[in-house]
Amino acid sequence: MDFELNEEQKMWRQAVHDFCVQEILPVAAEMDTSAELKTELLEKMARLGLLGLNIPEAYGGAGVDAISAAIAIEELGWASGSVALSISAHNGLASAPIALFGTEEQKARWLPPLTNGRSGLASLALTEPGGGSDLVGGVQTHAELDGDQWRINGSKAWITNASLAPFIITLCRTDPAGGSRSLSLIVVPTDAPGLHIHPAEKKMGVRASPAHSLSYEQVRVPADHVLGQAGRGLYQTLEVLDGGRIGIGALSVGLGQAAMEEAIRYARQREAFGQSLAGHAAIQAMIADAATQIEASRLMVYRAAWLKEAGRRFTREAAMGKLMATEAAERVCRDAIQILGAYGYSTEYPVERFYRDARAMTIGEGTSEVQRLVIARRVFDLA
Ligand SMILES: Cc1cc2nc3c(=O)[nH]c(=O)nc-3n(C[C@H](O)[C@H](O)[C@H](O)COP(=O)(O)OP(=O)(O)OC[C@H]3O[C@@H](n4cnc5c(N)ncnc54)[C@H](O)[C@@H]3O)c2cc1C
Repeated sequence: MDFELNEEQKMWRQAVHDFCVQEILPVAAEMDTSAELKTELLEKMARLGLLGLNIPEAYGGAGVDAISAAIAIEELGWASGSVALSISAHNGLASAPIALFGTEEQKARWLPPLTNGRSGLASLALTEPGGGSDLVGGVQTHAELDGDQWRINGSKAWITNASLAPFIITLCRTDPAGGSRSLSLIVVPTDAPGLHIHPAEKKMGVRASPAHSLSYEQVRVPADHVLGQAGRGLYQTLEVLDGGRIGIGALSVGLGQAAMEEAIRYARQREAFGQSLAGHAAIQAMIADAATQIEASRLMVYRAAWLKEAGRRFTREAAMGKLMATEAAERVCRDAIQILGAYGYSTEYPVERFYRDARAMTIGEGTSEVQRLVIARRVFDLA
């Protein structure tokens, strides 16, 4: 076993970290307050390869290994949960299905623009107003073939990056009979007549990462916009979600790390009862728990990424990593607020933002309850 990052991965972490310190950290609080992602960051991130983590070099991407991709999202999460969520969704949720399942022609057409930061960010629409956890039963948005076009009707909810995207990959029911082979992923350009992108949701956290509800009214797209094969949408989605969960786990490790660092900084300089907070056993215990939970989460997330990179099955490990890291981040951010006392509850310090951002992570890309279902199925050998 080797728990060391290789030299390339260490250099990559440093490069992304330096970028976050220079470009993202100074504007993170402002983006949260205004609930707006600074889109000028996109081209800068593109230059570093952050918009093409999952896109092969042949299509203009950085094509980094899965651990390096996790490291990048972790560092972004350390600087801004909002930026990290939008970039994680862009790479892990929405570029990945094209790279994994697109035909050569589809990859050549849709992937290169996603890497340059000038065409916006990619978006994947699975969730509907009627439900997100139950994809098989819950997807009502339907697409019918009408000559050489799909005709799409329905609605989606909570779709990250929709307002920034050149197209939205949409999970549609293409066989009214239902069942696991009745769904397909269809690429819908955002300028298609009949597609309405509603104003961004007003969220508790990750406020600068835009999430929208969408309506599709007789939207028409060419038949060749179905990704790979029609009827494979559920399997494609589940595979993509496995990878996406590594991203959300990594993001949560970054959020927890940022909260712990802030708590340590504060505990060193604040005095109570004649000594620094850092000298009190109760505070030390909270920091010790935080350090342990963050380290455990990081190892689990990297292990899932390592399995992915090795081409092995990683569904169980990705679900475990996401469950562990997201729930740990929430606890660590909660304790960071506690350590800062009243200041922790103030917007003057960033820990309340970290806490609000972390709260979303046990919900998006499969709730904690869904992760437990995925894990239990595999532990009981039912999958
Ligand atoms: C910030 C943010 C960004 C998002 N971005 C996207 C995006 O880009 N694309 C996208 O498609 N979706 C996105 N989502 C939606 C997200 O994926 C869903 O919210 C999530 O899958 C849960 O679906 P739901 O909200 O409909 O909850 P529901 O499915 O209605 O579940 C409600 C509650 O019931 C529980 N529950 C449901 N079924 C079971 C069960 N069988 N056993 C036990 N408990 C169960 C859930 O865990 C949850 O606690 C985003 C959400 C957020 C908050």
